[in-house]
Parts: sequence; C-alpha cells; structure tokens
Amino acid sequence: MAKTVVLKIGGGVLKDKSSFDRVVKIVAQKKANGEKQIIVISALYGVTDFLIESMGKCKQDHKQVEGIINSLKKMHKDYLAFIGNADIRKKAEFVLDDKISLLEKFLYGISYLKEISPRSRDLVQSFGERLSPIVLEAFLLDNKVPAEFIDAEEAGIKCHGQFENALVDLPRTEKNLLSKAKPLLAQKVLLLPGYYGIDDSNDVKTFGRGGTDYSAGFIANIFDAELEIWKDVSGFMTADPKVVPAAKQIDFLNYEEAEELGYLGAKILHPKTIAPMRLKGLYAEVKNIFAPEVKGTLIGPDKHKSDEVVKSIACTKDIAAITVKSSSMVNNPGFASEIFSLLSEKEIAVDMIATSEIAISFTVEAKNLPLALDALKTLENFCPCEITSTKELSLVGAIGQGLRGSPGIAGRLFSALGKENISVELIAQSASEINVSFVVKKNDLEKAIRAVHKEFIA
Ligand code: ASP
Ligand code: MG
Repeated sequence: MAKTVVLKIGGGVLKDKSSFDRVVKIVAQKKANGEKQIIVISALYGVTDFLIESMGKCKQDHKQVEGIINSLKKMHKDYLAFIGNADIRKKAEFVLDDKISLLEKFLYGISYLKEISPRSRDLVQSFGERLSPIVLEAFLLDNKVPAEFIDAEEAGIKCHGQFENALVDLPRTEKNLLSKAKPLLAQKVLLLPGYYGIDDSNDVKTFGRGGTDYSAGFIANIFDAELEIWKDVSGFMTADPKVVPAAKQIDFLNYEEAEELGYLGAKILHPKTIAPMRLKGLYAEVKNIFAPEVKGTLIGPDKHKSDEVVKSIACTKDIAAITVKSSSMVNNPGFASEIFSLLSEKEIAVDMIATSEIAISFTVEAKNLPLALDALKTLENFCPCEITSTKELSLVGAIGQGLRGSPGIAGRLFSALGKENISVELIAQSASEINVSFVVKKNDLEKAIRAVHKEFIA
C-alpha cells in the first residue's frame, strides 16, 4: 500500500517565492515516489501577528480597515503574480478576494462595535490559514501537481474547549475527514488548514499560537500517516547555538522529552502535537526546507535506549517568582488550592512550584506578574500571609530520559553552576523525572546554560 505522509508546512518557511518553489519540489518528488500526501499549512510568515495587531487598530478607528485589507491582499497576491498559468492565477485571486471580503466585514464589525470578543479574535486569527492554502494550491497546480484545498468547515475539522486553546474532537473529525478527504488522496495532494477548528455552535476556535503542528499531529493520527514537520532548521538542538556554540542537533527525542522541551519554550514542535501521535505510536521528523536530504530530529515512542543523561537544555527567558509565606499554612490544607484557584480564575498558568513547610514559591510568565499579584490580594481573607515577588528571572530546564534513575545528577548540576558563581533561586525536579528545572537571575541565564551544557553534553 502506498504510504501516506502528512507534511506540516510552517509559516516560518512561507516567506518568499523560493520557499514556495522548494515546497513544490519536495511535494512533486514525493508524488513521483507514489506517496499520498496531506499538507497541513500555517499562515504565511507574519500574517497571524498582522491579523492580531489589525484587530486592535480597527477597534480604535474604522478608517484603518481599508488599509489593512489592502495590505493583506498584497501580501498574498504578490506571490500569485508568479503563477504562470493565467486561469490558475485568476481563480486563486478570485477565491482570495472572496475570503478577504468576508474578513473585511468582520473587521468593520470590530470597529463599529468597538469590541474584540474571544469569539471574534479567534475568527479573525483563523484567516491566515484560510488564505495561505490558496497560494500554495496555485503553486502546486501551476507546476502540474494535482492539489485541492478544503477548508476546515468543509472538511469537518471539529473542536471543543476554550477559544485560543481548543482541542480537536477526534472521533468526529476522523469520521468527517475519512469520508470527505480520503477518496481525494488517490489522485490529489490534499491541503488542509492548520491552527483552527469549528465547534458545535459553529464557532471558530484556534488551538493556540503555533497550533498548526497540533493540527498536523491529529491529522496524521486520523490517516495513520508519517508526519514531517517542515521548517527552516533540521530539528531540536542540545541548546540554543547562539548561546552555546558547541550545541549539536538531537537525533531522537521520545514523546515526553519533546513535550517537556516544547513547554519550556523550544519553538520546534508544539507540545500539544504529541498527544494524538502517542495514541497511535506515530513518528514525526523535523525536516529542513533548505536541506531536505538531511536527517532531522525524529520524535517517537520510546524504543531507543539513549546514552545521554541530559539531551537538551531549554529555557523560558522572562519569568517572575512569587513566594507566599504563612506559618498558618502548616495546618491549613486548603491553602495551596486557594492560591492556585485564584490564579486560574484569571487564567494565569504556573510553570514551576516549590514548597516548604511555611512557604510556597512558584513562577509565572513575567508579563503575568501584575495580574497574578492582583489575583492574590484576597488571599489574606483566607489566611494571614506575606506575599513577595522577584522579577528579572529565567527558568532553565535540563531534559533527558536518562535523568530518570541516574543518581547524583542534581549534585553535578548545582556544582557546575556553583563553579560559575551562579546562584539558584528555585529548584524543581519534575514528577516526570526527565526534567530538572531551576530558576536563575536573567543576567546569569546564558552562563547557566553554558555551564550545564559543558557538564552534561559538550
Ligand atoms: N499561524 C499560527 C501562528 O502563527 C499557527 C501556526 O503557525 O502554527 O501561531
Ligand atoms: Mg509555527
């Protein structure tokens, strides 16, 4: 049976004409090899950010809408100008104009209502992924690769959950995609939009920034396909090469390692992608559009025994720590839960938690600190306490399956940091046992990453 591949094409590589040419070449080659292909595509480079900024501008002033619409048309039509076949080009321009005129109405809606609701925010953001496939489809057709773009409504990509953080409704999406899309695959390359789905009330919901990876993950699950994540790099590195010149590419990561790295801020694969892959034991390979022949990082179920203790060091640069101290905490079992429910009411995520008998410390993204402190104001009503916070911190995580059951790791790690005179503000060995995280002053971040890399990797 011909193998089926899902190619995730990221926005980071959709930034000039030559990137489209590269994608077409890769797809044509696979077609010649008899592979069935589904392309799951992101918005063109910068378009999602542009849409988000535009909503703010339209809310201020309805006169902004026209300019925004024209820029968006130009961003896409500049590529269509390269399409040689006039029929293909005109049809693509027509479809593009049609979709953009719908967006124009929504933007006017925002400017006259002077309101951006979560619903309208997600609807507008989805337009990047509604437009980019029109351009890629035209490039493929112009190069005689039969292709068809089906949008999420038509394909039946169903979801549920929160705006900007939705989850796929896998059984229903599977049923829809298999019946509508599968027959197509025998002849054509199928293009599907990443990043958003449609819920039961017909609301458009996005999966979170970078969520096209997740779309590609559940679509690979549905088609039992191999997954290729096409980017402008070949994969995960042992550390950021700008910080550690000796950093190397990682050949293999298991699911947990890839998830931990993703949540820590390695922007290679959205960590949500792993769950649908795990359900079927699928593999994903990160592929470099500039070097398609190079083997990228492979992510998959853990069948590989690795020798490394620490595989990669990642970080979240801008965090803040909050400490809540209270001697009444000892006999007050609801205290921690009170803290975290106050934070969750404001939708503030906590990254790392460390506790002692009389204090709880935890970290939040730096930008959330004022909101978090505000949310905790009522904690006094629950129990007398003292709340302090520290800014200008960074979170570093050393990740590797080899950490599980290797004694003495923490000692090595902290003596490596100690030798460099780096003081550690907070420490947590995660329950997953494959992540040791610690917090340092932002000024010490790069030094800390280099010290840990040198101790464990090279
Ligand atoms: N276009 C969306 C974003 O920029 C989704 C994605 O690219 O994965 O976040
Ligand atoms: Mg992305």
